Amino acid sequence: STPLIKADNLTVGYNIGKSLLSKQVLKAVNGVSLEIEKGSFFGLVGESGSGKTTLGRALLKAAPITGGGAFYDDGEVRYDLTSLQGAQLKDYRKRAQLIFQDPYAALSPRMTVRDIIAEPLEVMGLTKTRAETDERVREIAAKCRLNLEHLRRFPHAFSGGQRQRISIARALVSGPQFVVADESVAALDVSIQADVLNLLKQIQRDMGLTFLFISHDLSVVAHTCDHVAVMYLGRLVETAPTRKLFEAPRHPYTKALFSAIPSLDPDDRGRAQKLTGEIPSPTNQPSGCKFHTRCPHAIDLCKSQEPTLEHVGDQHEVSCHRWRELIEVPA
Ligand code: SF4
Repeated sequence: STPLIKADNLTVGYNIGKSLLSKQVLKAVNGVSLEIEKGSFFGLVGESGSGKTTLGRALLKAAPITGGGAFYDDGEVRYDLTSLQGAQLKDYRKRAQLIFQDPYAALSPRMTVRDIIAEPLEVMGLTKTRAETDERVREIAAKCRLNLEHLRRFPHAFSGGQRQRISIARALVSGPQFVVADESVAALDVSIQADVLNLLKQIQRDMGLTFLFISHDLSVVAHTCDHVAVMYLGRLVETAPTRKLFEAPRHPYTKALFSAIPSLDPDDRGRAQKLTGEIPSPTNQPSGCKFHTRCPHAIDLCKSQEPTLEHVGDQHEVSCHRWRELIEVPA
């Protein structure tokens, strides 16, 4: 199948120098290449500071692309996101949407649920009459398991899970093909997380959408996504079909993320080793492999030379000098 989204050496840099003379550029996303297949549920994992949110925004044309390229192709239109503007950019806003990470902050307390969901339709001019708007709102609300009674109320009357469903309905009402869900369940209780995840999966399947699901939590991603990409300090360090990544993680960072997940298997518990140390500041990045300051397997080469992504299996890529030697090493 064809990719709906393609990033090619994509870089997002911010100028953080105080004057023109001290031009310091912070590369939040640094040379990322990936393809998101149409109709897939694609996971993007990393700690805060990894650049995952910035990458998601760049793919929505909501963060400045300063290097490389990004493309959208849904079979009907093909857009080069780096040069997208005017009427095409407006059209892209319908086709690509963000589900906010914090439904509490995202919803206006003074608007009814109906008005919150309807707003994008009105702003984008997608419906001509109030009756048409209402029809679209009711349709998407039903898909998100909200009923007519809910639509008349204000968001404060709802629980966290219900508010998240309102956010989802609002993001989907314009009929997007591509949806970025950024930490969409992180603010919710664990018991409600599964509910919202199941709803997202069901909607994605029913409507044939393509999702980029961003999370710091590998266990959440593992249960939801078809394909996973792992980011560290602006770089992609490993990408693979989810099952492959689970069975045979190759990057020491991915292995460390896995071993930080509490295991149910008592034989595994002894092996569990938590990731130590903090992710370095993006403004002061280590030389060579960005992970060498925390990697238990770092050698001199890692400090001087940055590894590049290599094919290690079908659709499986990893960026580590030593992945072959470390195949049998857990973390
Ligand atoms: Fe660790 Fe070296 Fe591999 Fe980086 S390249 S992950 S420092 S072994």
